[in-house]
Amino acid sequence: MSLKFISFASGSSGNCSLVFTENTAILIDAGITLRRLQDELKKLNLTINDVGGIVVTHEHSDHVKNLCLFSKYIPVYCHPYTHIEIFNKYNDVDKLANVEDYMEGFTIGDIDVKPFETPHDANYPLGYSFVSQGRKFSLATDMGVIENNVFEAIKDSNAILLESNHDVKMLKSGPYPQWLKNRVIGKRGHLSNTDCARLACMIKEQNSDLKELILGHISKENNIPMLALETVKSTLSKEGLLGDTIISLALQGESTRVYNV
Ligand SMILES: [Zn+2]
Ligand SMILES: [Zn+2]
Repeated sequence: MSLKFISFASGSSGNCSLVFTENTAILIDAGITLRRLQDELKKLNLTINDVGGIVVTHEHSDHVKNLCLFSKYIPVYCHPYTHIEIFNKYNDVDKLANVEDYMEGFTIGDIDVKPFETPHDANYPLGYSFVSQGRKFSLATDMGVIENNVFEAIKDSNAILLESNHDVKMLKSGPYPQWLKNRVIGKRGHLSNTDCARLACMIKEQNSDLKELILGHISKENNIPMLALETVKSTLSKEGLLGDTIISLALQGESTRVYNV
């Protein structure tokens, strides 16, 4: 039985996804309601008690707004610097997992979890890789630029959820105030479609085994899902790097299919 992944929601209104095997389920972020989480878990024949941990990327509300509530049921794994921010902004989490050296990684059930730093305007923003039975899934969103450490951390994955936040032209001519445009486009903001495509090319140059590339954290105001998909797909095709990789979308308002990593 392989590693599986499903995104329940992806985008600036809320992020939450699940990585799981037959024995272990790990939630990534807590940006949906408890009711919605319970409904989604039920469809997978799981309950909230089957979830072994929630790993947290960073303290922005689209990622942690229901974390304190979820933490009554599920142990929380987050970097100490992120924990401080959550404590200051919200409340303390109920069940905090004790991890000695967070950046060294940890194991939940039969899944090894390895965090990596991302360039974003939070206190200690992270992406994560998950490895089980020789298969690897990585999630990297909320990052302003392509950093080498992120590339190194995710390049040998079998499936990746990558940020494809905005189309630069749409952002520049769009409704956001200038300060917000500057934030999104900045080094600690969000990744554009073209940067996402460039990172995908870098990964495919070294890893022909990338089976699934999922584009997420797509902006409602400054992007169109099909434009993100087309930009990444056509860039990979043009470079002769698309191969067998299936490119799909993780959207805000609906769950994805279950991916076999
Ligand atoms: Zn976000
Ligand atoms: Zn963020």
